[in-house]
Amino acid sequence: MSGSSSTHENMAAPICNCEEKCAIFTSKTAKNPNRRFFGCPYFNFEDKMLYCDYFMWEDEFIASQTSMVELKEAKKEGDVMNSDVEVKINQFESDMEHKINVLERDVQVMKFQSESQMKRGIWKKYVGIVVLLIVALVIVFCIWKHTKLFK
Ligand SMILES: [Zn+2]
Repeated sequence: MSGSSSTHENMAAPICNCEEKCAIFTSKTAKNPNRRFFGCPYFNFEDKMLYCDYFMWEDEFIASQTSMVELKEAKKEGDVMNSDVEVKINQFESDMEHKINVLERDVQVMKFQSESQMKRGIWKKYVGIVVLLIVALVIVFCIWKHTKLFK
């Protein structure tokens, strides 16, 4: 018996108009015998001024909680209600913005890399031309020297 009451203490309860976590009561009316309901935790029959008139059947509250969970589950599956579509679009847009920023950064990095690679390529080309020119000059010089000697 004490176990079942502690589970009710731990379970989510609605907040009453005094912004307090509701207490659970059991209806004794003929229409709803033994039906449990949430009410103001300050609820007592002696002093009616101390509590608000918040009222929620326990089963209706559980049903509303369950539908909240179902809504969250539906959101995960992409089956969203119209009111949530806008939020989803905003999330999508900020997601895209982030992706574009990353892409832009990557393009910048690639540009920089290709530029430095091009510079390296040009430098290599120039070194080759310079070496070829020196070799050619040496050959020409040697030939010129030989022709001069044999003249
Ligand atoms: Zn209250």
